[in-house]
Amino acid sequence: NKQQHLDNRPEGEAVASNFKLVTSETPALKDNEVLVRHHYLSLDPYMRGRMNDSKSYAQPQPLGQVMQGGTAGEVVESRHPKFAVGDKVVGFGGWQEYSVVDASQPGMLRKVDTTHVPLSYYLGAVGMPGVTAWYGLVKIIAPKSGDTLVVSAASGAVGSAFGALAKARGCRVVGIAGGPDKCKYVTDELGFDACIDYRQHPDAKSMSQALKEACPNGIDGYFENVGGYILDAVLSRMNAFGRIALCGMIAGYDGQPLPMTNPSILLISRLKIEGFIVSEHMEVWPEALQELGGLAASGKLRPRESIAQGIESAPEAFLGLLKGRNFGKQLVKLI
Ligand code: NDP
Repeated sequence: NKQQHLDNRPEGEAVASNFKLVTSETPALKDNEVLVRHHYLSLDPYMRGRMNDSKSYAQPQPLGQVMQGGTAGEVVESRHPKFAVGDKVVGFGGWQEYSVVDASQPGMLRKVDTTHVPLSYYLGAVGMPGVTAWYGLVKIIAPKSGDTLVVSAASGAVGSAFGALAKARGCRVVGIAGGPDKCKYVTDELGFDACIDYRQHPDAKSMSQALKEACPNGIDGYFENVGGYILDAVLSRMNAFGRIALCGMIAGYDGQPLPMTNPSILLISRLKIEGFIVSEHMEVWPEALQELGGLAASGKLRPRESIAQGIESAPEAFLGLLKGRNFGKQLVKLI
């Protein structure tokens, strides 16, 4: 069983030598345990925060142990009555080829139906990132039909789900993404109304002008994934009583400062800004997953995936995700 451990913590930018490839035996199963062979590992930006030893909403990733993370795979051995060999399952097996799971613990392993939805989607659009988009949209932005909404990191796992959910509610949806290929995909394939390439608008003034053109009626709701000058620019275009779901600030995950240059605009425009962590809202998951599964099965949500091959490739693929080298949901395929 090949595994990727966190070997040491980053100083500033995360690097490949923070990780270590280790081989170990999988232990024999005890009662209620299940052996899962992972087909896909999920790589997610939140993992960067857990590599640090600082105070956060989640415990840091322990050193010398398997990197934690979501997994999708197949039961290959079972000593639990509800799981049979061949069942497709999602869980939190970490960066390794196999995991032994105590399936009697609630929420540790979930059987999924791959008849209409591919297994990998359960780590993206029909999984944690999809529910993240759903929560910020439905519970924080709470849009009306006809509202103009903006989302940053629009081509990614969360952003693409946000677009499909917002279009289904009759909103005008404008994305922000890095580069012409991602922007073309966001409008042509994801069906956004417009997409702004932030690399063409590298400061708040230029970005604010681009937003003015893409959002002639102003912005009613913003789903923030990035932070920094993009947030400043969006704030300058928010309509009175606009709502901002603060989901991520990836531009600062390696320790870069993210100043907000004009916070008084929150007062002047009477804005609501609310941060959230999706795992603290398990009550919405069933409803959100049902809607996301329906959109995926009907083809209205066709997320793109970046697939790295083999456990050896996980560190580089993860570092690429933090730099925008992924195009859509970043996965590692193991078989
Ligand atoms: P994505 O698939 O969107 O991948 C990350 C993307 O971020 C990259 O593709 C890149 O897109 C963009 N990016 C990276 N660095 C920068 C930068 N400096 N400036 C602007 N854009 C950058 O990842 P996810 O969809 O999984 O996650 C999106 C966000 O949601 C993250 O911030 C993540 O932390 C957050 N999140 C929060 C959760 C919560 O509970 N609050 C749960 C899940 C995710 P591009 O090339 O377009 O710049």
